[in-house]
Parts: sequence; C-alpha cells; structure tokens
Amino acid sequence: MRIAIPKETHPGEYRIPITPTHAKKLCAMGAELEVEAGMGAGSGFTDAEYSAVGATISQDRNAMFGNADLLLRLRKPEPDEIRLMKRGAIHISYLDPFNEHTLVNAFKDAGVTAISMEMIPRTTRSQKMDALSSQANLAGYVMVMQAAIHLPRIFPMMMTPAGTLKPANVFVIGAGVAGLQAIATAKRLGAKVTAFDTRPVVAEQVRSVGAKFLEIDLGETGETTDGYAKQLTPEQIAIQRQAQKEVIAKSDVVITTAQVFGRKPPILVTKDMIEGMASGSVIVDMAAETGGNVEGSVPNEIVQVAGVTVIGKGNLAGEVARDASQMYSANLFSLVEDNWSEDDKKFMVDFEHDILPGCIITHGGEVTNTTIKNILEGGA
Ligand code: NAD
Repeated sequence: MRIAIPKETHPGEYRIPITPTHAKKLCAMGAELEVEAGMGAGSGFTDAEYSAVGATISQDRNAMFGNADLLLRLRKPEPDEIRLMKRGAIHISYLDPFNEHTLVNAFKDAGVTAISMEMIPRTTRSQKMDALSSQANLAGYVMVMQAAIHLPRIFPMMMTPAGTLKPANVFVIGAGVAGLQAIATAKRLGAKVTAFDTRPVVAEQVRSVGAKFLEIDLGETGETTDGYAKQLTPEQIAIQRQAQKEVIAKSDVVITTAQVFGRKPPILVTKDMIEGMASGSVIVDMAAETGGNVEGSVPNEIVQVAGVTVIGKGNLAGEVARDASQMYSANLFSLVEDNWSEDDKKFMVDFEHDILPGCIITHGGEVTNTTIKNILEGGA
C-alpha cells in the first residue's frame, strides 16, 4: 500500500503528522512510504531522517495526492487536493466534519474514504489513538504558560526580605482534558486554583489535582454516554454566570475551556465580569477560534478589554510543536496499526471494526457517518 505524507501548509502550523520513529514502523509493516520534501522541518526532522528509515522523499506534491492509497496528515485538506486523489483512496486527518460541509461533500463526490481524527471514541481501548486528548493536554499546559508570560505578577507565594508576594488566583472554567492539565500546571507553579465544570463527576478530579471546586447548583446537567457535557439551558447559563462573577473578580487569571461537542461553546465570561477584574489580569479563552467562552475575545489575537489581557490564540498545542507532533504521530500511527492487515500489507476499511466505523465520514461515494449525514441533510 502506498502511503503519502504531504507537508502541512497552514500558516503557522509547525506540527507534523508522522515523525521518523513512526515512519520507520510503517515501513517495517510493509508500507511503501512517500514523504514530501521538507515535511518534518517544522518540528525539527530532516528529509534524511525519513529516507534513513526507508521512506522515499518526493518533490511532486500533486503526484503524491494522485498516487496515494492512503494519505496521512494533520490538518484538513483543500477541496482541490481531494479532487487529485484516486477513487477508493483513504484520507486520515482532523476534518472538523460538523462544520466542514463543503469538504465532506468533496470527499463524497471524489469517492475517497475520509477518516476523522476528531471522531475517535473516548474509550479506554482507543486512548492511544485519541488526538483530541493528546493535543488538549498540551494546550492546557500552554494556556498557563501564556497567562504567566502576560501577567504582571508571579504565580507562587514568595517570602523575601523585600516583602511577601501572595500567590496568584487562577480560575479554570471547564475541567476536561485541557482544563485539568491547566489546573495541574498552575498548581505546579504555586498558584491558588479554583475550577468549575458542569459535569458533576469532574469535582473529584479537580480536587485530586489540588484545586478547589466551585459548587454551583444548576439542577440537572449530566453528561452524554460518550462523557461529553450536555448543552445548558439559557436559565442554567444565567445561574452559572452569576455564581462565577465573584470568583472571576478575585482572579488574576481566568482560563476557559468549556466546550459542548459538536456545538458552539457557551459565552461564560461577559464584558461586565471582565470589568470587575483588576487591571493587568489575564484571561485565556481556549474556545476563541470556535466562537469563544469570553465576550470580546478575538480568534488568534491578544486584545485588551477594560485593562484585562484577553488571549484568544488558537493552535495552542502548536506552540510546543515538537512534543505535539510526537504525540499526534503516535495517535495516527496507532490508528493505522490497529487497522492494518499483516497478510495484505494494507489498511483495511472494516465496518465491523470496534473503533473505525464511527470515524469514517465518507466511503464509496456516500456519507456513511449518520450524525454527519443528518447535519448535512438539515436534520440535526
Ligand atoms: P470538551 O473539550 O468537550 O469540553 C471541555 C470541558 O468543558 C468538559 O469537561 C465539559 O464538561 C466542560 N463544559 C461544557 N460546558 C461547560 C460550562 N457551561 N461550564 C463549565 N464547563 C463546561 O471535553 P474533553 O476535554 O474533550 O473531555 C470530554 C470527556 O471525555 C471527559 O469526560 C473526559 O474525561 C472524557 N475523556 C475520556 C477519555 C477516555 O476514556 N479514553 C479520553 C479523553 C477524554
């Protein structure tokens, strides 16, 4: 099977899909591996490292798309790139299938099997393939680093002959994978951390990493069978905002990570709450790119709102591209390995597999994922 790994072209993207370690393993499994010249450069890997493990280096990007049986990458492709692919070829990457309707239709029309990394189920067995978690974990760390750089104070308490500095107060809203890592990172730096999440099971996880859980009675909230938060009613959002207001006013740093899978994130920090914070405080809105948890946050920018620095940077994991690449590559390789036929030396698109079917968006000229199909047909 011919596997192609093209270079990521999105501006500012230094993460890569496959490191030489996993390229070597793919070659050992019998794949014919083609890597675009310069593919690994963003994360510090040279072409020579890929050719040393058995890959061919290609200068012809279009030919790579046209000849590949399987394309492995990080970001979604351009529709024009999909049109270059063979019918029956397989494409694996992030796809954002809930929002990228044109892209999904382009895959369908081209007869390409599109597999979405976002749709890997959050089960114990698929943990090693779970790129959302690996990248969110790093994003949690980076958010705290960003806040620490912009805050004109230090995080830990410091007792010196020149006086005592109080620890910074950090409030984390949304304690999923990224939020819990942000809490743990802020704690390691010596901050006093409070957190809130709508899923009741999270309270214990927050306490176990040494933070205080803010109790807010929102009535029935619960979580989906996949462990995701359910969307709150407008009344519940109003209660949450009111209850958080005082904590936010006393916080030096607010980090928001609240997401509802497949939906726009809720606005949880409003302009009046920002106005209640001390000048120089910092807010990091991890959801800025998808609509934002914070009123006034701007995707990919750092702005001042009422004297508060509001950071809306996207691609946070990309700030630590080398580690992010290593983890994404491990996730992607595990997915391929799990679906690889040793006898046929190829990736099997098997609708009886326990993990794969939910991640397949299009196959054989059809949208096979029922959730995405319903959205495209306007049914959800
Ligand atoms: P996510 O990115 O979808 O959301 C981030 C957090 O925001 C979640 O914890 C969610 O409950 C919270 N949230 C939503 N609305 C909120 C609101 N109004 N206020 C405050 N918080 C709000 O979540 P995620 O980090 O991707 O994790 C989703 C779930 O998947 C979690 O239960 C996590 O433990 C689980 N998970 C399981 C595995 C596994 O078992 N292999 C792996 C990864 C994640």
